[in-house]
Amino acid sequence: MSDYLLKALAFDGTIRAYAVDSTDTVGEAQAKHIVWPTAAAALGRTMTAGLLMGAMLKGNDKLTVKVEGNGPAGPIVVDVNAHGEVRGYITNPQTHFELSDKGKLDVRRAVGTEGMLTVVKDLGLRDFFTGQVPLVSGEIAEDFTQYFVVSEQVPSAVALGVLVNPDNSIKASGGFIIQVMPGATDETITILEEKIAAIEPISTMIDRGLTPEQILEEALGAGNVNVLEKIDVKFQCNCSKERFGNAIKGLGEKEIQEMIDEDGQAQAECHFCNEKYLFPKEELEGFIDEIRTQS
Ligand SMILES: [Zn+2]
Repeated sequence: MSDYLLKALAFDGTIRAYAVDSTDTVGEAQAKHIVWPTAAAALGRTMTAGLLMGAMLKGNDKLTVKVEGNGPAGPIVVDVNAHGEVRGYITNPQTHFELSDKGKLDVRRAVGTEGMLTVVKDLGLRDFFTGQVPLVSGEIAEDFTQYFVVSEQVPSAVALGVLVNPDNSIKASGGFIIQVMPGATDETITILEEKIAAIEPISTMIDRGLTPEQILEEALGAGNVNVLEKIDVKFQCNCSKERFGNAIKGLGEKEIQEMIDEDGQAQAECHFCNEKYLFPKEELEGFIDEIRTQS
């Protein structure tokens, strides 16, 4: 695993920037869920945006991103924390279309152009922030741009890109978010707009082997990037048999007895990482005993 993310400042601290190479991380999600190329681009872009947003969190804060469009790929859900750990799934991973007329993966067709982008931040101590905007494009990056402007009132440039190999594995994945802070001059904004309009697609830069440092220099200007922090990123699911067991216990005695009577066991599967957990009859009976002694 060599994926990492950078947090940086530029233009006397009036521009905040984040860049990530997420190739291996998205590659792991692609392999776990056997994702086809168009769906892989949609999931990879959303995971990459999630990682960049995770870097805006503090301490043990977490966030969940949901992209719920009306396209055939179905909802995309991504969980991320401030430590570069991300997990995600797309509801119908085996979604793929012919390349668009521009020769690109047709993410918009898989995601759909109508629906919602929702961000839920878990800031600890039952403090939640929810922001929601309607999808404006279905291509994901433009939808996040809209989210930042409307929901967080921070003008932002968002670039997200995923390239897929002929065998469906991930060739390159990455992204950046550049945000204008209060105090940025019109001159700075003009320079930035020109630079961002002129640079190559992010997936091309990652595929060419550019590092997050080099990508930020391309976007912000050489010698203009003040890196604050480097964060290793990886696919990480925090599911466990104990968590699923607690969920089963929460269903109550009657439901558990039905599982025993009908199937003689229970199997739980994690949406995020596809891990399967089997609960044989004896363990289910143990749950019933626990419920009885607690009540
Ligand atoms: Zn899991």
